[in-house]
Amino acid sequence: MPLAFSRLAVAIIVLLVAIPAAAQAPPASNPFFEEWTTPFGMPPFERIKAEHYKPAFEAGIAERKKEVEAIASDPAAPTFANTVEALENGGLALAKVNDVFSTLTGAETNDALQAINKEFAPKLSALRDDVLLNEKLFARVKAVWESREKLALSVEQKKLLDDHYKDFVRGGANLAPEQKKRFREINQELSVLGLKFADNLLKETNGFKLVIDRKEDLAGLPPALVSAAADAAKAAKLEGKWAFTPQAPSILPFLTLAENRDLRKKILDGYTSRGDHADALDNKASLSRIAALRSERARLLGFKTHADFVLEETMAKTPAGVYGLLNRVWPASLRVAKKEAADLQAAIKADGKDFALEAWDWRYYSERVRKARFDLDDQALRPYFPIDRVRDGVFYAANRLYGLTFTERTDVPKYHPEVRVFEVKDADGSFLALYTVDYHPRPGKRSGAWCGRIRSTWIKDGKDVRPIVTNVTNFTRPAGDAPALLSLEEVRTLFHEFGHAVNGFVSRVSYRSMGRTSRDFVELPSQIMESWALEPEVLKVYAKHWKTGETIPLALVQKIEKAGTYGEGFRTTEYLAASYLDMDWHTLPEPKEMEASAFEKASLGRIGLIPEIVVRYRSPYFQHIFGPGGGYSAGYYSYIWSDVLVADAYELFRDKGIFDKATATSFRKNILEKGGTEDAMTLYKRFRGREPAVEPLLVKRGLAEPKP
Ligand SMILES: [Zn+2]
Repeated sequence: MPLAFSRLAVAIIVLLVAIPAAAQAPPASNPFFEEWTTPFGMPPFERIKAEHYKPAFEAGIAERKKEVEAIASDPAAPTFANTVEALENGGLALAKVNDVFSTLTGAETNDALQAINKEFAPKLSALRDDVLLNEKLFARVKAVWESREKLALSVEQKKLLDDHYKDFVRGGANLAPEQKKRFREINQELSVLGLKFADNLLKETNGFKLVIDRKEDLAGLPPALVSAAADAAKAAKLEGKWAFTPQAPSILPFLTLAENRDLRKKILDGYTSRGDHADALDNKASLSRIAALRSERARLLGFKTHADFVLEETMAKTPAGVYGLLNRVWPASLRVAKKEAADLQAAIKADGKDFALEAWDWRYYSERVRKARFDLDDQALRPYFPIDRVRDGVFYAANRLYGLTFTERTDVPKYHPEVRVFEVKDADGSFLALYTVDYHPRPGKRSGAWCGRIRSTWIKDGKDVRPIVTNVTNFTRPAGDAPALLSLEEVRTLFHEFGHAVNGFVSRVSYRSMGRTSRDFVELPSQIMESWALEPEVLKVYAKHWKTGETIPLALVQKIEKAGTYGEGFRTTEYLAASYLDMDWHTLPEPKEMEASAFEKASLGRIGLIPEIVVRYRSPYFQHIFGPGGGYSAGYYSYIWSDVLVADAYELFRDKGIFDKATATSFRKNILEKGGTEDAMTLYKRFRGREPAVEPLLVKRGLAEPKP
């Protein structure tokens, strides 16, 4: 998880972050009301207590309101500086508390912080509405926007003006009063439906359990999974039995390893029928209504479909752009998936069975074929991936590419003793950023891995404010006398999140909101960083046995490489099918409620999805697109879009040399430093010399043969 923000989310952050301190000076004991004199201006975490947030949020919101009112009622004629820049560069008091608060609610939360979160989330969203629906304010922004051709603005300033104007327009500011009323009704209903969808899904997920009471039915399952299932049964008052759930850590290993075929079918059916039982928790009517309302709202705003509305803000730009990419990858992906299906059928036969491959057999036989073919054991790799060495590996790559250096600082405040802080300097020795890493799980930490910021970069009163960038992850803890030894997947994740961080270190933008890019572009810097992780030249530097210091054996590296694209036909196909389904739901020709089952069947039928593969998310549990906020609606394609860019960009590194200075410098100047200051395709073309090609992705995923 990333710095991924839609333009809309950016608007929220910008707006709720915008407005300066000055008003009344509250009690000096609250660190949020003081100037921080800590090294690098790091928040004085040890002095910040739960009771400090509420007054700081309240003061920040009040100041922001005052500031917005002042901009809106400024007697001077609207200018870029007194309107757009003023709006953008304000909200500093609120930003100060919010940056700390959001860092801690992700990485080190507790009941007190969660209660504050609950209290202030609606207040912050109301603040955002107050800004976007302020008619006087919009009139000023619009006046500046309409005179944009005559203004002497930089490229970045033009983009800023455009972004702010669009935020208002997309928020309904340009609508007639009657339309505005309907617009608000739609938003209201959508927010209720999104919550209902998520609530139903949660109940459905928690409501299904595969309960096993005979020990022989556990055959094939590893002891850790069995004991977790025993705990789950105990918690459900089924002492002495084993319960498996539709949650990933339970169902995925079960489908991969359980020998009992009937039980694999049972748990998969439980998973895929969630929200589809024609009862009170059925999600089909809600999601149809959501799609219809989104379609209506898009039309109100002058767009043909919801997807047109969403994609305007992305690199893909239009539904045709998205479908174009999906259609390029789909045939190759499906062809490989069918080949994989034939392999699995052969494995079934070799197993002495005569049934036809079904969806509940796929993962099970796929794992058996993988083991037989590649003999790759994740546990055997871990001793070569002690966490500190892996981190030195990413530092090494960033040094070779961009000349960055990293020095640990122990004199900087931290929010937890496990956090480590590094000072990042540029090739010429100048200070670039502060980088904090927080690697292991704790009860107060949300799951997953992400890159965040404690301070954004921008130019404040002519001075370059450098960022404080965080990586927070949930990697394996040290055990016994060994340091934390990472899995291959964790190594990739460490490189991935570090890639987001590098993007932050070198960012050169004048305005805070310009550091962020669209969802289909933001994963380029992170996913491309993963490419260096497994380069033999880089592995040689960091992958050393924690005890003996021995470099990872070449044979093991080759095994990793060979196993690399195995199963990609399945993975890409189930993913692409969900991307098509998402796009189909959001390009309805009419704002009309569709019967969800028939609609989904038709959508998947059109692309010829084979029955042995289930779409990654069926509509009734496609939370990414129908859950609260619907953040990924018409956006689920973003993952593959980014990966096209990654494969295409990395091909240039491969051609020129993976540490070629000129290529690295061009990537830094044209992509990493620019953020959202220009159109993403323009930036990409400046780096690559042309639009991205899809072939490198097909090769990378083993869906096409490399060019000779
Ligand atoms: Zn990411």
